[in-house]
Amino acid sequence: MSIDRYHRQTLLPQIGTQGQERLRAASIVLIGCGALGTVIADQLVRAGIGKVRIVDRDIVELTNLQRQVLFTEADARDEIPKAIAAWKRLGAINSDVAIEPVVADVHAGNVEEIVGGASLVMDGTDNAQTRYLLNDACVKHSIPWVYGACVGVEGRTMLVRPGVTPCLRCIFPEPPAAGELPTCDTVGVLASAANIVASLQVVAAMKFLVGESSDSLITLNAWSAQIRSIDLTDARRADCPTCEARQFDFLDRPANHLVSLCGRNAVQVQPSSKRAASDSSLLAERLSSAGDVQTTPYFLRCTLRESAPLRLTIFPDGRTIVHGTNDPTRARAIYDRYIGS
Ligand SMILES: [Zn+2]
Repeated sequence: MSIDRYHRQTLLPQIGTQGQERLRAASIVLIGCGALGTVIADQLVRAGIGKVRIVDRDIVELTNLQRQVLFTEADARDEIPKAIAAWKRLGAINSDVAIEPVVADVHAGNVEEIVGGASLVMDGTDNAQTRYLLNDACVKHSIPWVYGACVGVEGRTMLVRPGVTPCLRCIFPEPPAAGELPTCDTVGVLASAANIVASLQVVAAMKFLVGESSDSLITLNAWSAQIRSIDLTDARRADCPTCEARQFDFLDRPANHLVSLCGRNAVQVQPSSKRAASDSSLLAERLSSAGDVQTTPYFLRCTLRESAPLRLTIFPDGRTIVHGTNDPTRARAIYDRYIGS
């Protein structure tokens, strides 16, 4: 490995050659590779983090390109899963980094395995449910994680060091109810705001990795150029269910097998058991009687003849997106009818 490519970074007294070695020894798990995640992944890989696991459930779409910096029109046209597109792009940028793409939905049943062994976890998700799940998993296994959120022109970020600094539930005890807060799908998101939040997340990660702490909650409004840093010393709550009582409510909750994908007119269905990978050619054959089947290296797609305009996207782990409906009950019925549980 050549250290020269990091010259402008090792020149920084905050990093130096010793800091660079620490970055190289680190293994980071990034959950979500969208507006925040693509910027985070880009900066981590360029900075020479040793290992980066990129986890995302989605396929690149045209509306992503306004802010999701790693993707191209070709990725959207070819419907490449985001984790795969990011891995290909970043592999061409820094081949020193071991990048592992994981195309999966993060849920209570797999989150502990996904974050296992990480030096640090980065939050690139776009929903509160997954963040509270990450908080549970990271506090349970004492893995520090960097929370980040961005909607509209505003955002916030915070490093959680389990047992040392406040966890997410110390600061925000309960996740907002569905529909209570605006989301990127309902009010949009300014790319510049997402870039600032993601950059601050990476700064918090790098500081932590080189042995400096940054125990504050940062909130910002990119449009009015206001940034606030709230000191979190002594902000841990004595009655926090997660980091004090070690009650992991979100991990213990059974995984939700049906998730309506907000703003996308689609429902995600998780199989109750893992299907064998060898099933996919059989499934393609079976589905060909119900509609037009398309096979890609990453998923199987079936446009249903009888139930137009419904389409099914089936990933190798059995996870299925039913496109063309927001109704979980209808999606479940379609799934059971054509794929079976
Ligand atoms: Zn807590």
